[in-house]
Amino acid sequence: MRKHIFNAGPAVLPVPVLEKVSKAVIDLDGIGISILEISHRSKEFDAIINEAIELMKELMNIPEGYHVIFVGGGASTQFAMLPMNFLKTKASYLETGSWAKKAEKEAKLFGEVQIVASSADKNFTYIPKNFTIPTDVDYFHITTNNTIYGTEIKTDFNSPVPLVADMSSDFYSRPVDVSKYSLIYGGAQKNVGPSGVTIAIIKDDFLNSKQVTDRIIPTMLNYKTHTEANSLYNTPPVYAIFVVKEVMRWLKTEIGGLENMKKINEDKAKVLNDYLDNSKMFIPTVPNKEDRSLMNITFVMQDPYKDLEAAFLDHSKKYGIVGIKGHRSVGGFRASMYNALPIDSVKVLVQAMEEFEKANLK
Ligand code: PMP
Repeated sequence: MRKHIFNAGPAVLPVPVLEKVSKAVIDLDGIGISILEISHRSKEFDAIINEAIELMKELMNIPEGYHVIFVGGGASTQFAMLPMNFLKTKASYLETGSWAKKAEKEAKLFGEVQIVASSADKNFTYIPKNFTIPTDVDYFHITTNNTIYGTEIKTDFNSPVPLVADMSSDFYSRPVDVSKYSLIYGGAQKNVGPSGVTIAIIKDDFLNSKQVTDRIIPTMLNYKTHTEANSLYNTPPVYAIFVVKEVMRWLKTEIGGLENMKKINEDKAKVLNDYLDNSKMFIPTVPNKEDRSLMNITFVMQDPYKDLEAAFLDHSKKYGIVGIKGHRSVGGFRASMYNALPIDSVKVLVQAMEEFEKANLK
């Protein structure tokens, strides 16, 4: 039986996609070669990567003047690649969690980093508001979804300087006004595919702007290498890109696009949030509902029940629930509810919580 997969990433993928890609491991569309065996220079792979890019552009309504590229090294490599390419003197960062801090750490290797606002004072349980984006910086960096802390920036900022977003854990979960961003990046392994490929959506004007540094950049770490070679400068992760293409097809044909996806994700989050807001045993870690992530919902046991956390984890296993242990820096629980998680899995989680609460309420 298939489990209820609440993993934070790598994470749940749509079953029809798993079926399709598993067949291609044996034989890609009847050509007598596995997807694992085709050349990245073949016409078959050319069609795959181009369709993946076209669907990504179509689904997120990416305007003319942007490139979509596939690169290696995870979002963690983007933390360094961004400042290496674009940080001349000073960049500003919105500090909303430990991924944002890791991005800052890499930027400091290349220039001055200004923290515009931080929610570190309350262990990143909210999104800072009312900050001013400075105008004298090379770019402004945000992390739209804070995977560990369960907060999410759901609006697209107007920024006076190039806006850069790490969207690792929420891109393709809702529509985004890409025209407001100069660079969006993320690892594929939450909403758009398996681990092993990182996606960047980059504005051509940014690539040719005064922000581009004149430092020497290793070929593979230069964005232009990948935009100019259609992500085929070196051998890309062929299989991962194939899966991304299939996930994009699923988003388009089964879901009907990102507006629908957003609605489905809102419905799923509501099921769990409604329960959490009324529970006497569990409590959400993000008090402000506006700031709560639709992707990762974090919660803990209320004080009198703290010692029951391990017992609840054990209890949840009986329902086939996996992946809800919270990140070690927050504790408690985290239900990651990416695009492909069925609403029924959320209902099963709530049922497990209700039954545990009923049996153990003091
Ligand atoms: N940014 C965010 C928001 C993440 O959630 C993660 C991974 N969980 C990363 C960056 C790092 O991604 P990777 O492991 O692909 O380097």
